[in-house]
Amino acid sequence: MATADTLVTGALVRTLDPARPLASALAVTDGVITAVGEEQELKELRGPSTAVHHLAGATVTPGLTDGHTHPLMGVDLATGLDLSGCRDLAALRAVLAEAARTAPRGGWVTGWNLDHNTFGDHPIDRSAIDDVLGGVPAFLRLYDAHSALVSGAALAIAGIDGPRRFAQRAEVVCDADGRPTGHLVEHAAIDLVVPYVPAPPAAERRSRLLDLLRGMAATGLTTGHVMDLQSPDALELLAGAEDGADLPVRLLIHPWCMPGDGDEGVDRLVALQGRAGRGWRVAGVKFFIDGTVEGGTAWLEHPDCHGQGTEAFWPDPAEYARALHRLDAAGVATATHAIGDAGVRHVLDTVEALGVRRARHRIEHIETVPDAQLPRFAALGVAASMQPGHCAYTRADHGDAWSRRLGPERADRAWRCRDLRDAGATLVLGSDWPISGYDARAVLAAARLRRPARAPEVAPVRPEQALTALMALEGCTTHAARAAGEEAVAGRIAVGMRADLTAFALDPLAAPADEVAAAPIRLTMTGGRVVHREE
Ligand SMILES: [Zn+2]
Repeated sequence: MATADTLVTGALVRTLDPARPLASALAVTDGVITAVGEEQELKELRGPSTAVHHLAGATVTPGLTDGHTHPLMGVDLATGLDLSGCRDLAALRAVLAEAARTAPRGGWVTGWNLDHNTFGDHPIDRSAIDDVLGGVPAFLRLYDAHSALVSGAALAIAGIDGPRRFAQRAEVVCDADGRPTGHLVEHAAIDLVVPYVPAPPAAERRSRLLDLLRGMAATGLTTGHVMDLQSPDALELLAGAEDGADLPVRLLIHPWCMPGDGDEGVDRLVALQGRAGRGWRVAGVKFFIDGTVEGGTAWLEHPDCHGQGTEAFWPDPAEYARALHRLDAAGVATATHAIGDAGVRHVLDTVEALGVRRARHRIEHIETVPDAQLPRFAALGVAASMQPGHCAYTRADHGDAWSRRLGPERADRAWRCRDLRDAGATLVLGSDWPISGYDARAVLAAARLRRPARAPEVAPVRPEQALTALMALEGCTTHAARAAGEEAVAGRIAVGMRADLTAFALDPLAAPADEVAAAPIRLTMTGGRVVHREE
């Protein structure tokens, strides 16, 4: 019998394989699991060049997947000041004043992760920040990444002096006199300014991507379902990053299909499928059917408290359906961002109208849905892709911007993870980094706690929607694989599966969720390569 490249021994191996749920050792050759069993049984696979990882006390699970992440967009997006710590306007103004004071001549102040709640009852308006910037242009992304606040100087540089019309849902918000407030809503509006914001050189972006993926692997991640491929040089960035190194986390990439792309645009996306490197692959298409609740752009069955939320992101939602059907006919999987209840319904209706489905389709976010939509996920084979960390932006007492927009009835339908699981849906969990932290342990914990990990003072939001420890782990393993159509090669520890493994210092199915969030990751292995090892 041929010896193995790698043996993992001495651990509690939770395979998530119903045929053999527990083991203490496994063998890997050429990136694939070749044996699972007890240490004694696998002894003969040890040869002179076999790497042995003896992980006494650790629990090994299938490698964790982040079901919704933006490492490519995030390399550019999560730059400058992390504004998540600014709880109110005074804090934001102080941070911006300091950044403007120290900005190089001709430089910009850039920031991200700005919470709508920072503005309290004030509108999101550059009048709140212009006076502390001293004329330095500022570009600040709101945490939802669907809107930005830019300063008066930035508007001037980009030549924006009034409202604009867009082929897709987007808005340059203007005051009563038609002057832009600096609030840019949705991608097309934000993209008016992006080209003017200084971008780091290619080599720096490559190394930042690798650093980022290393950081992700250190939290146990081996795969990411990447929901963008937007910057014009994103494929070059990937190829360049892979030139000198293996990607620590495998990336399954979903470029966007946007309103106005037309049949030619859809066909270009079909042609892009299968473009791949060693550690990445274009594997589907991402749509948006709406925006965000906080931005007033989620598509709702009934308007929100400001009278907003009545429109889809696609000016003609039937065009979205046409595009999805064209992709399905070509066998291309889709993932649609749908946050409001009307958006979710429209996606499910669109998949239902396919009749026979030739590809897998999934819905991202699903922030508020009524009972009637729940069983349709399982019935139509549509996977639910949800981000437990987003719940942390709302409060149990409904005092936050998201809940106030929706009102108590719809806010009570917040992130119905458990109801969807109980209704038989495939439920893949993710972070939506950089909208939320990428730490996979925090995702597992938040799914069980319905509050941020290690913050017991925070009241849980709809605690009856908590997942069990096993359901949470499945959301990052077996269910993640199924959502991506990879269940034959990933998500379990079994012979023939990809050697994607995560070794926790504790048992994530037995330990309290807050402890899982803080647990060291002893080892992460992606495709048989050690991509993280505890120091
Ligand atoms: Zn996203």
